[in-house]
Amino acid sequence: MRIGNGVDVHELVFGRPLILGGVRLPSDLGLAGHSDADVVCHALMDALLSAARLPDIGELFPDSDPSLEGARSLDLLARVARKLDEAGFRVVDCDVTLCADAPKVAPYKREMRGNIARALGVSPDRVGLKATTFEGLGFVGAKEGMAAIATCLLGEIASETPHA
Ligand code: MG
Repeated sequence: MRIGNGVDVHELVFGRPLILGGVRLPSDLGLAGHSDADVVCHALMDALLSAARLPDIGELFPDSDPSLEGARSLDLLARVARKLDEAGFRVVDCDVTLCADAPKVAPYKREMRGNIARALGVSPDRVGLKATTFEGLGFVGAKEGMAAIATCLLGEIASETPHA
């Protein structure tokens, strides 16, 4: 088993869609970024890549790459899943905490988990997702931005093959 964690932060601004876990939520504010700025997917990608000891998303998907402008982070997550597979790892479990004071995420959690599970090629029960508020404190509480924290467990495919 390998373990990884990832953290990401994006600023909330007017005039951007709010995409979380591949779901567009109704909101006057959206996250700023080069891609769709899906902070949930970004934290999770960094956890997965770290567990596999692969380069992080800043190296894999740099802001300077014009082909990634407006990229769907769910697609990038699927690309990370392929990299894990090539490196000999499978996703055993993952869990993400979104830090956001608004909007309410609960009605969308199921769809977000389904999107993430599909991108990773695992069943939705392998994907944990919850949201917490910061009770009005700090940049999350002031709705200046959102953060996400992710943890994952990877299994080494080769080590699970029975010895002849
Ligand atoms: Mg990011």
